[in-house]
Amino acid sequence: MIGRQLAEADTIGQFVEIDAHIVERLGQGLGKLDHRFDDYASHANGITVQAFRGKQLVDERGAALIGADGIWSAVGNRLKNHRKPAFAHRTAWRTLVPSDNVPDYLRAPAVHLFLGMDAHLVAYPVKAGALVNIVGIVNDNWSEAGWNAPGDRAEILRHFARFTWHESVRELIGIPQRWLKWALFDNATPFAGGAGAVTLIGDAAHPMLPFLAQGAGMAVEDAAVLADRLKEHSDNPAAGLLPVKPPPSLRFIGDKEQYPHDFVTTFAPLPVPADATDPWNGGGINNWIMAKEGTPNLDAAWTFIRFWLVDGAKYMLKAGKVPAFPGTDEDTVIEGILGPDRDTLYDVEAYRKVVFADDIRLVTDSITTAGAEIQTIVDGLSDRLFIGEISVDEWVTEAKTQADAAIAAAS
Ligand SMILES: Cc1cc2nc3c(=O)[nH]c(=O)nc-3n(C[C@H](O)[C@H](O)[C@H](O)COP(=O)(O)OP(=O)(O)OC[C@H]3O[C@@H](n4cnc5c(N)ncnc54)[C@H](O)[C@@H]3O)c2cc1C
Repeated sequence: MIGRQLAEADTIGQFVEIDAHIVERLGQGLGKLDHRFDDYASHANGITVQAFRGKQLVDERGAALIGADGIWSAVGNRLKNHRKPAFAHRTAWRTLVPSDNVPDYLRAPAVHLFLGMDAHLVAYPVKAGALVNIVGIVNDNWSEAGWNAPGDRAEILRHFARFTWHESVRELIGIPQRWLKWALFDNATPFAGGAGAVTLIGDAAHPMLPFLAQGAGMAVEDAAVLADRLKEHSDNPAAGLLPVKPPPSLRFIGDKEQYPHDFVTTFAPLPVPADATDPWNGGGINNWIMAKEGTPNLDAAWTFIRFWLVDGAKYMLKAGKVPAFPGTDEDTVIEGILGPDRDTLYDVEAYRKVVFADDIRLVTDSITTAGAEIQTIVDGLSDRLFIGEISVDEWVTEAKTQADAAIAAAS
């Protein structure tokens, strides 16, 4: 229920309000605050947790233990197959400034991203526009664990040096008096599941670097999925906590340690109707990248878009993205995407035939009104379909209604 409310909150301001509401409800007996987990024991009747309330050590009994205690998870430390996060040689710097103190364009309800050498900066309004959140990520070897160490403004300015960064970015960094910083860690090994009625969710299970800004979103999704699974297995929580096997992807196929297998993966072309005389395929080329209308930095945006489509594409091969530009060297793409063990893991020639076929006729949208909004609608509804919240028929009806509304709003 709380997870659902969080998922439906559409502004940061609303998020904060809901958060306060949760704390209030926890205070009314839905849970106990101010306990620091220390240890646990499993037994026939469930789990007993030992926790500190202040200096006092207390025991709490429950049916299951879900460690949602972040990247330095104390619950995780008690699990055998939990891997410690690795230092990513980067530091995040964060500050909040009153929106009256920043230039006009930063007050718009949008995320502003400034990309540059060895660093980037993100700024967006929070608290219903009263404050602007600024986060800078820089390459760094400072690796102290924890959150919120005080950061020196002169130090972050050194990372955004005058000769490589636009003055407007340096001016923005110069506005706040107070910066906080923390070293970034992640864990490339997926959490393979807990033990019996004990598991982890959120950063405790899968800490990630903040580049796609999805960590908190995934923690909320974990909670929503787990709630459904526990409801389904209310008589046996341990069964509800068993890991759900993800659909296979190239990344899993390449990981012989976590997903041992002795078969070769092959590829087939996208299907077309057997009786089609002039077949087009519903699969699409999906490469959305846009410059904001009216941006004062159109030249810089074009430079970045060119880089993304051409030279930058090679960095995405490892993530399974086929470059969209013409003249791509087939062998480089195959090597980048299928990896060094391609000859033993894949039917490489089948991959070549499917991906580089000359005669694939993919539908390309020529009417793009509200295209980005419709993509967001489709993604959101598809997520709800995949977790079994809506049916295919509901997906179709809802997608049409929401897409028509988005087109009407954009026309
Ligand atoms: C710079 C930066 C920017 C980010 N931006 C985004 C973004 O835009 N969008 C997004 O989705 N995510 C973002 N993230 C990621 C997001 O902050 C995390 O993924 C998210 O907070 C994880 O939530 P969690 O509940 O799993 O863990 P946490 O938020 O870390 O919460 C863990 C809680 O457990 C408590 N705890 C720890 N030990 C114990 C113990 N022994 N006993 C009891 N309690 C304990 C802690 O006090 C804490 O309250 C960002 C992260 C960083 C570093």
